Amino acid sequence: MKAVQIVRPEELRVIDVEKPSITEHDNVLVRMTAAGICGSDIGIYHGTNAAATYPRIIGHEIVGVVEETGPGVTSVKKGDRVIVNQVVSCGHCYPCSLGRGNVCDNLKVRGVHIDGGYREFLVVPDSDCYLLPDSLSDRDAVMIEPTTIAIQSCSRAELTAEDTLLLYGYGSLGSSIFRIASQICPNIIVAELSDEKLAAAKAHGAAHTINTQKEDFLERVSAYTNGRGSTVSIDAACSKGSLLNLLKATGNAGRVITMGFSTDPTEINQFLITSKELDVRGSRLQNRMFGKAIEMIREGKLDLNGVVSHTFPLIEAQKAFDFADTHDPSIRKIVLTFDF
Ligand code: MN
Ligand code: ZN
Repeated sequence: MKAVQIVRPEELRVIDVEKPSITEHDNVLVRMTAAGICGSDIGIYHGTNAAATYPRIIGHEIVGVVEETGPGVTSVKKGDRVIVNQVVSCGHCYPCSLGRGNVCDNLKVRGVHIDGGYREFLVVPDSDCYLLPDSLSDRDAVMIEPTTIAIQSCSRAELTAEDTLLLYGYGSLGSSIFRIASQICPNIIVAELSDEKLAAAKAHGAAHTINTQKEDFLERVSAYTNGRGSTVSIDAACSKGSLLNLLKATGNAGRVITMGFSTDPTEINQFLITSKELDVRGSRLQNRMFGKAIEMIREGKLDLNGVVSHTFPLIEAQKAFDFADTHDPSIRKIVLTFDF
């Protein structure tokens, strides 16, 4: 079967590998139908993802059809359409004992630390398979994974209806977070450097928008919050100055959520955190949020149709990654398909 492997940074290859088979009673053989390309996949390709190891078959936005099941599997059956959980945790370390397997001490992420979904077939435990709602095509269903990341950040922020959320960045991560946050909290300020993206945020119901290049960011946040700052700030831009900006813009007793993976030092100061008693919390991957995302789709609260902007067959992955690198403004989500 075909697979896409990043042999080493900047070297992508379509390779032939052996089709996996069921070895455990709880195994499910999934035939892939769609796999999303995420910013982190592009990071692994370019060698900027500190977590990745090489060579690696990447892909963690994994959608397919159940082809075969082990003797102990009852939750899914042949022909079921599923999305596969990308987080593999050990179940017995300290974070796992707290129910936080997404930061397991022995964490393995499919497509990062172990081989992922850019291959025609994969075998996973049945507990990692989530049934897709009928209302969503396989290609659009890859968006469930970014949605779980967004749900995780709102959960880490303990976002409530009473909060004033400052969302910094409205790219693919930011807009996914907005989609979830706006279900919880009506008062959202979006800060971004692209007018086009700010217009989209406004159209989707942002209370206020700030162009961080053209406007005085802190003055605007202050004006939109009656001088007290946001109660929750989420960094979906993860750029060099974003954390300092958010520590400044957040009001007393607020929460600041980081999501970036950069190891570059950035200057902040303790006074901003101590004096306001801010909670600065990381949000990584997602902690069993697939069920929640799928439930929201089933209830009609979340519509992921039409988010995917481009598709390429798996064997043209190089073309797809080259296209992603153009940062063409038409790109919202690129999906690899398996109908070649
Ligand atoms: Mn992703
Ligand atoms: Zn663990």
